[in-house]
Amino acid sequence: MGAQRKIDGIVLSRGSVVGPAILACAERAVAKTTGLCEEERALELTTLDRAVSEATEELRALALRVAGELGADKAEIFESHADILCDDEFRADLARLVADEGYSAASAVRAVSEANAKEMEELEDEYFRARADDFRDIGNRVIERIVKARDDAANHSSERFPSIPSIVVSRALSPGQTVSFHLPNVLAFVVSSGGANSHAAILARSLGIPAMVIPESELSLLSNGTTIALDAAGACLFIDPEPDILSRVERSRADEIRRAERLKALLDLPSETPCGRSIGLYGNGGGMKDLSAIAEAHADGIGLFRTEFLFMEQGGFPDESTQEAYYRRALETMGDKPVIFRLLDIGADKPLPYAPHPRENNPFLGWRGIRWLIDNPDVLIGQIRAMLTASAATRRAVRVMVPMVCSPKEMSVVKNIVDRLIPETGGTAFLGMMVETPAAAMSVRLFQGLSTFISIGSNDLTQYTLAADRENELLGDLYSEFHPGVLSLMRKACADARSCGMETGICGEFAGTPEAAPYLLAMGFDELSMSARSIPSVKEAIRATRIEDARALLDEALALGSSADVRELARAFLKTRGVGA
Ligand code: PEP
Ligand code: MG
Repeated sequence: MGAQRKIDGIVLSRGSVVGPAILACAERAVAKTTGLCEEERALELTTLDRAVSEATEELRALALRVAGELGADKAEIFESHADILCDDEFRADLARLVADEGYSAASAVRAVSEANAKEMEELEDEYFRARADDFRDIGNRVIERIVKARDDAANHSSERFPSIPSIVVSRALSPGQTVSFHLPNVLAFVVSSGGANSHAAILARSLGIPAMVIPESELSLLSNGTTIALDAAGACLFIDPEPDILSRVERSRADEIRRAERLKALLDLPSETPCGRSIGLYGNGGGMKDLSAIAEAHADGIGLFRTEFLFMEQGGFPDESTQEAYYRRALETMGDKPVIFRLLDIGADKPLPYAPHPRENNPFLGWRGIRWLIDNPDVLIGQIRAMLTASAATRRAVRVMVPMVCSPKEMSVVKNIVDRLIPETGGTAFLGMMVETPAAAMSVRLFQGLSTFISIGSNDLTQYTLAADRENELLGDLYSEFHPGVLSLMRKACADARSCGMETGICGEFAGTPEAAPYLLAMGFDELSMSARSIPSVKEAIRATRIEDARALLDEALALGSSADVRELARAFLKTRGVGA
């Protein structure tokens, strides 16, 4: 055992655990490997050649399809990436690193693509500087092929990853990668990128798997088999923990298990305040797996169905019948409970590999959500028609929610399509808007007649209000929904929506935070939507909070100067009512 080392981190998904580290495949592949023997070099050269050829073919096929579906100009980017992979000098650099210096295929790709990217970044010309990321994208695409070839070989030998209970170490965590893991053996995730409300964090929480982000420089200290103790309460992890730390973490784990058992008892009790106000508790979902978790948590419906998961699982835009079957299944699983489908929300942190997207300086302020959909009407119309057809087939109304709305004009485009398709399909739909931008929060009244409900997307609303990127782990505490400015916007949006007769909900991660419950009750939300796993602890907070007390608490909170104080105020409020102990 080495000397114990403590690393501070940010908790993405709560939970304490001890176990051996295992590097996720991509990390193992690119972990700098040099000095391979002759025999290994030959094998790596073959792997490299195959991966480069496959990536090139993939790019050419993508370019062809995109040119057919969306026009030749949109396909250019994929053609130019394929050309780089065919470039003699690029290929010679890769081969030299492997053959002469004994790099592994993946580490050679990372080294060459990074060197090219750096060279571009140093150029004066804006155009060339923007090309730096092209080299990184190309490198990642080839590395993905290398990793996939290894995964296929491992699957072929029916090896599951991880094969024993382990803490998976990975730079980033994408939905696709996560579902490929053998989850019963994943004790926790340790990553080096992603903020508290990044999609990696949301995913880990919905799976109930502890997760922590640590600095990239520290991540490289972890190797296969290293013992890690993840201490959620202390927001840190220990490498090679000493016995006192091991027993502390084990104790925390036992407490967490006891608490989960206690909360289970709340499942059958109503979500109601002691003064008799009922609040709908809905589930957030994206894949079919989430549906059963939502049903098991006795949710009142689905408050956010992230349809982009269906699109991400496919190699190209899913056709209308595939979509319809997917939406119908969600409606059927929920019986007569409401289901809110969010229209495809891509761009920024949720790219669709097959949907061409120009490079943007500020992707979060760019072509995403409804902006992208309006510019791609075939996708928008196809998705709405599939939802309405599913509605007709199940004789259930669908709720269609529009992401990233800023102006009533955007809602009108969607409403016109819905109105036109209702007679054609025989479906029924209610249209609602996500409140994710300060502009939307401040102007809810302008949407009267266009929107029958609002749902606060607090993850994005927070980042736009505080100008703090939700994915950026460096910002730590700056990004917080408890900021009085963010709370004021939520309060205004909710009050204005109520005064216009719209239903009010919230579906960002804030809804699943017990300390948020008193504030959201005070604002008057009808429905809170969250990961199914959060429902019991939020219900516990609701059942302990009188509306009158919550209103006084909110007034007090809005006069405080820091997000941390606002959160602490609610924590203490709930503690005196026996919640969170
Ligand atoms: C949000 O922004 O709060 C939200 C629910 O959407 P997403 O997290 O998918 O961006
Ligand atoms: Mg959002």
